[in-house]
Amino acid sequence: MEWPRVAAPPGVAERNWRDWTWQMQHRITSAAALAAFVAPSDDERSAIDALAGRFRFVITPYYASLMDPNDPACPIRRQVVPRLAELDDPAGLADPLDEVAHSPVKNVVRVYGDRIAFCVNNECALYCRYCLRKRMVGEPAWAMKKRELQIALDWIRATPSIRDVLLTGGDPLVFSDDKLDWLLGELRAIPHVELIRLGTRLPVTLPCRVTEALCRLLERRHPIWVNTHFNHPKELTADAAEAIDKLTRAGCPVGNQSVLLRGINDDVATMKALCEGLVRMRVRPYYCYQAQLLEGTAHFRVPIERGVELFRALRGRTSGFAIPLYVLDTPYGKVPLTHAYLRGREGDSVVVESYDGRIWREPNPL
Ligand SMILES: *Cc1c(COP(=O)(O)O)cnc(C)c1O
Ligand code: SF4
Repeated sequence: MEWPRVAAPPGVAERNWRDWTWQMQHRITSAAALAAFVAPSDDERSAIDALAGRFRFVITPYYASLMDPNDPACPIRRQVVPRLAELDDPAGLADPLDEVAHSPVKNVVRVYGDRIAFCVNNECALYCRYCLRKRMVGEPAWAMKKRELQIALDWIRATPSIRDVLLTGGDPLVFSDDKLDWLLGELRAIPHVELIRLGTRLPVTLPCRVTEALCRLLERRHPIWVNTHFNHPKELTADAAEAIDKLTRAGCPVGNQSVLLRGINDDVATMKALCEGLVRMRVRPYYCYQAQLLEGTAHFRVPIERGVELFRALRGRTSGFAIPLYVLDTPYGKVPLTHAYLRGREGDSVVVESYDGRIWREPNPL
């Protein structure tokens, strides 16, 4: 099975196209620049202007070249190009998980006893329209100065119950190798930090970021687990597969966290193709998130019951490890959303339901 390779556009040298710093410097931030890749619709053009002061748009040339030039409903395009529907979401909140209230120090989010989400960076390669952290992504006030990173590291050092640190953002891999190496070294020097995780979308949005140098750097700080964020089978390219292959060869287990998005991946065929493609790349689908009650995202949200039925339809019909756990994140932690396969007790038996709806009574005396 060969994945499609994303070719450099005419006039762009292959060497530049595959250089992540070139990609970062040539990101698309205006309707005029977007027009080199797609024909922006009136809705998209108006939304780019209307949302410039609220949640800007930024897209890597690599990711832009996955977009369908003529179809505004393209699942890649809808993830990153603003739409007027974002202005119509009276229920949406800026911080639906109340992360700010869960921060003992700036950009450290603690919901669980033993692990934290540490938002080390407020920058990303591109801005997803449904980003949970849109309040901070691209916002200078949320940037972490070295001094602030030090304060957060001091807090972790002084909190021995923290055994698992999830570096997220924004995106920690937008950091230079030197800065990342420094941060990983500081964390590794803390004896109670057993596990470091990287939450990064760059294998999807800027796969050439995964360089040999990055892999050598990660290799020296194991155990490092990586969770990335593919949402649609169109994102499964040869470039992405190469980035994943490098990470797994460097010894990082790679998982995927997707978001259930209306009209993008909320049908069985698309979700199945995504999950089966991921396991072919040796990526384990980990979580699929219910889209939060987040400002400007009403047009992405799916009723939870539909989400439950979608993942129920995958159970028994593809490899078990291809199926992520569908979860709702709440200020109290992540809640699994699953079909009720466990039906209850009848005397000395427990009644369960199989994937295809048959009832089984398992003798199980109390
Ligand atoms: C998701 C999350 C974690 C990690 O949770 P796991 O279920 O272990 O993957 C940790 N802290 C916060 C605040 C989170 O949102
Ligand atoms: S990559 Fe993640 S943190 Fe960055 S904009 Fe997208 S959803 Fe937000």
